[in-house]
Amino acid sequence: MPETFFPEAYADSTETVPAGPFLAQTDPAHSALTRAYGAVGPNRPIHAITIERRALLADDVAIDILYCGICHSDIHMMRGEWGDQQYPLVPGHEFVGRVLAVGPAVTRFRTGDMAGVGCMVDSCCTCDNCLAGLEQYCTVGSTLTYASPDPRGPGQTQGGYSERVIVRERFVVKLPEGADLASSAPLLCSGVTTFSPMQHWRLASGQRFAVIGLGGLGHMALKLAVSRGAHATVFTTSADKEKDAYAMGAEDVVVWHPAATTPIPLVDQLVNKLDFLLSTIPSPFDAAPFLPLIRQNGVFVNVGAPGAIGGVTGGALWGQRRSLVGSCIGGMPETQEVVDYCCANGIRPQIELIRPDQIDEAFLRVEGKSVRYRFVIDLASNRAG
Ligand code: NAP
Ligand code: ZN
Repeated sequence: MPETFFPEAYADSTETVPAGPFLAQTDPAHSALTRAYGAVGPNRPIHAITIERRALLADDVAIDILYCGICHSDIHMMRGEWGDQQYPLVPGHEFVGRVLAVGPAVTRFRTGDMAGVGCMVDSCCTCDNCLAGLEQYCTVGSTLTYASPDPRGPGQTQGGYSERVIVRERFVVKLPEGADLASSAPLLCSGVTTFSPMQHWRLASGQRFAVIGLGGLGHMALKLAVSRGAHATVFTTSADKEKDAYAMGAEDVVVWHPAATTPIPLVDQLVNKLDFLLSTIPSPFDAAPFLPLIRQNGVFVNVGAPGAIGGVTGGALWGQRRSLVGSCIGGMPETQEVVDYCCANGIRPQIELIRPDQIDEAFLRVEGKSVRYRFVIDLASNRAG
């Protein structure tokens, strides 16, 4: 059995352990039960359940979760669209909260600090990628915040649609003083997922950027690209998002329809113009209409659909030495960086705050493209005290 540190940690704590009807803090030396919101099968309703959080280890941080964003990945996973899952499953991989307790080996956090957690909670920490701060590409395989076997406890990891979590310190980021808590939550996934490729492929001031899909990731991509001084174009299938896109700094907005047989409007004016095109489309798509828009040495970065990308030909790529690439979230240093960057530059995700009992409805609205632009669950909203 690993050594645990709950009693000492709570003895030092000035915070009260939240007491809800589902929280049975009967034996703090070991695991603890916490209220969470999950489902017992694909396409089953999300409702309050009780889950067990493992005991606090020496380098662990216990967090009282306040706000958790809803990513489209949560929906893919809960619906079993990315393969069979083990249920009950509690999603949520962009959340912020208050540090309740820390193990004795923790150096960056103290009780009462504000902290955030993204898509990973562990990795080998010794492979070349982990040593380079690219834990998302850990060659052994990183541990996802939910639905991964938990290397530190029994069963699988469970995510942030819950009231409390225990996470290894390396995978926790600090929230800057004064950060708006609710709107910071989406930075932990949608922020870093769009920031990371801009850093890697060096999206620079004056370059031409375009994003396909103005959703949770897409609107963050737009705000980040504009903040870097790029000329931003938005491709949206939702004509009613046009005004918002301009308000967020887009210089051009193109309304298109994937199933249309006619060419995308104005697309001929964009041929060979884009330095950086980012797709956030959550389903398989046809890249053929978009590849010619990439200028010489430009990149088409897919952060959306993990499935098939159709319409890619060798000629479309070599024609202008174009690259079609992918990018997965971001490592822990970059996750801290995007949180600090957004806070310092006043970049905030546009959110709709909901209660836990509205999660099912929110899933449907994300799928229906009507969220503006990220749902965030207020996890403290129905605590009985
Ligand atoms: P989202 O909020 O649903 O946004 C996706 C947007 O894409 C929609 O708002 C819509 O924008 C557009 N869209 C939806 N269906 C479309 C279709 N069939 N054809 C063309 N456009 C379509 O989703 P999200 O949370 O931003 O996530 C986007 C995707 O990225 C998901 O598949 C998610 O799993 C994935 N993801 C990947 C990573 C990574 O590390 N690579 C990280 C997080 C999420 P318009 O209304 O403007 O057209
Ligand atoms: Zn996500």
